[in-house]
Formats: sequence, structure tokens, C-alpha cells
Amino acid sequence: MSGSLFIVSAPSGAGKTTILKKAMQRAERLVFSVSHTTRTARAGEQHGRDYYFVEQNAFEEMIGSGAFLEWARVHGNYYGTAMAQLTEKLDRGYDVVLDIDVQGAEIIRNEGQMTAADIFIAPPDRFQLEERLRKRGTEDEQSIRTRLANAEAEMDQCEKYDYLIVNDTIEDAVTMLCSIIYAGRARDRRTKDGRLIPAMSK
Ligand code: 5GP
Repeated sequence: MSGSLFIVSAPSGAGKTTILKKAMQRAERLVFSVSHTTRTARAGEQHGRDYYFVEQNAFEEMIGSGAFLEWARVHGNYYGTAMAQLTEKLDRGYDVVLDIDVQGAEIIRNEGQMTAADIFIAPPDRFQLEERLRKRGTEDEQSIRTRLANAEAEMDQCEKYDYLIVNDTIEDAVTMLCSIIYAGRARDRRTKDGRLIPAMSK
């Protein structure tokens, strides 16, 4: 495997999606891992691009067959990272971002099957979460309440992460995220016995 793995977690409404999209535009050779979920697609979301949207029984079958590197129940739905798609991207030399919740990050940290730098994105203050979540307009009232209730517990997990980015301004947050990714690339450019890993061909 020659690509590096990065985990990014944040409570809903912290600005994570915007930051990640901009970081993807800035840093070449960086891709998202597309997760599986049982949540219904939002307007504009595409199967295979934003998520693989699957039925609960299909998801549970994947759990049973050991297809996931990690999976969790988040805000009442299943979400998981399929191992096969992830390793295929890493093997091709891409650096991969896992946009996963605090439970998924904890599983990867504890199981030690894969090495990843983990990054927590927090809003400048907790009260902005509700405002952003409402302005975004993607959730119904019940989902907003679930997400806000979960945000407090998620924020308590931020000390477990290698890096904390506070989203004071989007541009600074994107610069910080890209800096962490570039630093990871510099760190991971050698094999365990110190040999140089060749650059990926374009
Ligand atoms: P959303 O429904 O807003 O797209 O995502 C809700 C939460 O699920 C976010 O915190 C997101 O990071 C998390 N999530 C998305 N994909 C995965 C995954 O594959 N595994 C885990 N553990 N969490 C995920």
C-alpha cells in the first residue's frame, strides 16, 4: 500500500464538508472513501459518489461477511467503510480521507489494522452548530435535534485525535488540513526499512 490514510471527524454543522471539498480541490492525488449507509439520500446526493445507499439487510450481510474496516450506528442509521474499496485506492497510490464519526475513528485507532492520522474539526463555538445546521436545510426537525444532542458527546472525543482544527475561517481551516496531509505524505514516503517509495505516475 503506498497512499496515506486520514480520518476526519466533526459534529454535524461544523463545516466539515465544505472544508473537505476545498481541500480536495487544492491537494491533488487526494480522494474520499465512499461509505455505505442505510440513511436515505438527500436531494442532490448520488449513489456511488456521496455514499452507497443500501438497505439495512444488505448492510447487515456486509457486517456478517467482515466487509467493513469499521462500521457504526450514527444518528439512527448504519454507516461503514468497506475494506476492499479503500485498499484498492491506497494501493493505487492515492491518499484517502475517511469522513467518519468518532466511533469509527475509535475502532480504527484501537484495532490498529491500518495507520491513519486523525483530525477533528470543531466549530468556533458550540452555539454556531445549530445555526449552521438549520441554515443548511438538509435535515428535518427530528434529525436536527438528534444531531445536536450527539454533538456534545462527539466534542468530548476531540482530545483523542492527533489534530484539532477549529473552523474560525474556512480558508485557514483548509490550509491547516492540507498542511496536515502534506506532512503525512512526507512522513509516509519511506518504507519501514527506510527505502524511498517512488512517486505515483500521473
Ligand atoms: P451524514 O448523514 O451527515 O452524511 O453523516 C453523518 C455522520 O456519519 C457524519 O459524522 C459522518 O462523518 C459519519 N459517517 C459517514 N460515513 C461513515 C462511515 O463509513 N463510518 C462511520 N463510522 N461514520 C460515517
